[in-house]
Amino acid sequence: SMASPALLMRVVASAYSVAEKAATIVRNVMAAGDLGIVEKTGANDLQTKADRLVQMSICASLARKFPKVTIIGEEELPADEVTEELIEDGHCEEILKRTCPAQYTGIKEEELVIWVDPLDGTKEYTEGLLDHVTVLIGIAYGGKAIAGVINQPYYNYEAGADAVLGRTIWGVLGIGAFGFQLTEAPPGKHIIVTTRSHSSTLVNDCIGALNPDSVIRVGGAGNKIIQLIEGKASAYVFASPGCKKWDTCAPEAILHAVGGKITDIHGNAFQYNKEVKHMNSAGVLAALRNYDYYASRIPNTVKQSLVP
Ligand code: AMP
Ligand code: MG
Ligand code: MG
Repeated sequence: SMASPALLMRVVASAYSVAEKAATIVRNVMAAGDLGIVEKTGANDLQTKADRLVQMSICASLARKFPKVTIIGEEELPADEVTEELIEDGHCEEILKRTCPAQYTGIKEEELVIWVDPLDGTKEYTEGLLDHVTVLIGIAYGGKAIAGVINQPYYNYEAGADAVLGRTIWGVLGIGAFGFQLTEAPPGKHIIVTTRSHSSTLVNDCIGALNPDSVIRVGGAGNKIIQLIEGKASAYVFASPGCKKWDTCAPEAILHAVGGKITDIHGNAFQYNKEVKHMNSAGVLAALRNYDYYASRIPNTVKQSLVP
């Protein structure tokens, strides 16, 4: 008989279904019309009812199945009982059938850290830029992002009533990433994707120094990694603190699974062990191809302004 699937594959298979449930909650809260917006550190750092309900749903659902895994979510919430209707106990059969890479077959629950951004691109969600929004579930082992799920609840929302709304992208290092069409950006063009709502002089000076052919300003770290893997942009450049570990963990796993690279603006790898500082203080630099081209052109003055 078949051996039971490795823990990592069971976690990813469950995270896939949990992220789909999350997407339903994101759409339902918007459809109901009462977003329940709360300012966290200020007007550009928001939390909605969807952020709260989705985090409860994801964390409670995964904790019930994998009680010894460390789960770190973005939102600070009261330790309320989670209602049963928020729990998802399904999994994706297709993922369970995949062979776990040999180096991950021995992983124990205690060794995994799951970084949860229940709703990435909250500012854009409140402004109706719905396809900027993603749900991010990143899975780390030994301080590295090794697997991830990105759900885009409003993928196709402007494509008409016949189009299927929403999609789920998943990936594991050593297996690959699925749920989208991997596409390289136009060769010879430098198309930079960056923040829409968290710009600064440093952010813009850094982009200017790269002499881009064009700049795409959109919300969400998850959304920006999607721009890279679908060939819409050649590099994600964000020379500012503000992005946190839950923003980068799932995107990193998916980008690395298809041969891309993401680091801080100095070129340092991000660490995802449970004790790590949450803030990515030294910004973000990522590309599917030609990462070194962009890394070598980040000005020293920009680097000196961003302390890891
Ligand atoms: P953005 O590209 O502006 O959508 O940012 C990507 C992620 O980092 C989102 O989750 C943002 O909320 C977060 N982020 C970036 N900069 C800041 C900031 N200055 N304050 C709060 N959150 C930020
Ligand atoms: Mg976020
Ligand atoms: Mg968020």
